[in-house]
Amino acid sequence: VKGKAKKATKLAKPVEQAAVLGAGIMGGGIAYQSAVKGTPVVMKDIAQPALDLGLNEAAKLLGKQVERGRLKPDGMAKVLNNIVPSLDYAPVAHADVVVEAVVENPKVKGIVLAEVEGVVAEDAVLASNTSTISIDLLAQSLKRPENFCGMHFFNPVHRMPLVEVIRGAKTSDETVAKVVAYAAKMGKTPIVVNDCPGFFVNRVLFPYFAGFSLLLKEGADFQQIDKVMSKQFGWPMGPAYLLDVVGIDTAHHCLDVMAAGFPERMGKMENDPVDLMFKADRYGQKNGKGFFQYA
Ligand code: NAD
Repeated sequence: VKGKAKKATKLAKPVEQAAVLGAGIMGGGIAYQSAVKGTPVVMKDIAQPALDLGLNEAAKLLGKQVERGRLKPDGMAKVLNNIVPSLDYAPVAHADVVVEAVVENPKVKGIVLAEVEGVVAEDAVLASNTSTISIDLLAQSLKRPENFCGMHFFNPVHRMPLVEVIRGAKTSDETVAKVVAYAAKMGKTPIVVNDCPGFFVNRVLFPYFAGFSLLLKEGADFQQIDKVMSKQFGWPMGPAYLLDVVGIDTAHHCLDVMAAGFPERMGKMENDPVDLMFKADRYGQKNGKGFFQYA
């Protein structure tokens, strides 16, 4: 964070009430992290089972903290009370920051963002957790695009320190400042990046995956590559395992986005192993079979 935005971060009013739209893997994780770090959060979804799952996941994580003696049982109840599940927008009205984490579909996100903009205060900030959709495109659904930016968490939210704060063409310094301050309050490390395909992390990660795919096409053994990159090179995991964690379907979609954004550098590869795995329904850990077998 530099210049005017840095000054604005210091002046940003603290976030006292947050909301998350979508109680899935990411929305549930964001709500948990917000609550654990002391910012009450409304978790809104369209389906009761999703809300139940989100709350159960939070309870499971907190239970582990209690088991390890890092949290008292009454502390657990306090955190859980900080997450208010809801199927309607009414309790979202008082949020200073709303993080949208619904399905990765520009149309659905556009509708949800416009709906919530109509409910919150004029100075409330809206942020999208999209991994691949342009912030400027989503901003087109809004009357106050200056109050909107990206807030891209990584999975699992409670363990991954980085948060990309994505500044759109119309995003104001105050909005960036508020979201940076909120991410910091959540115990995360925010970085401010411009709106472009892949933002920052995926622009680094996907050329790495492309290098991995090229090696496979040349006949390399994925298990050997993973062993070298993790055990010998010292990274937490190799590219095959990482693709299984990210989800081959997600990676496949991301490759398309990168190819469209940077056709010369990241163009589609013929017989890309990620494509082949996707077509063979090998999605990674989420369906028990990817490069490795999990079931
Ligand atoms: P998910 O499918 O687990 O959860 C999406 C949730 O949104 C579901 O509970 C669904 O019921 C809810 N939903 C759908 N329409 C809604 C609406 N109109 N209002 C409120 N809730 C609605 O998805 P996810 O993996 O949590 O991904 C959510 C977002 O986060 C996506 O934009 C995705 O690209 C992004 N993201 C995902 C990851 C990841 O690893 N899963 C990482 C970073 C960012």
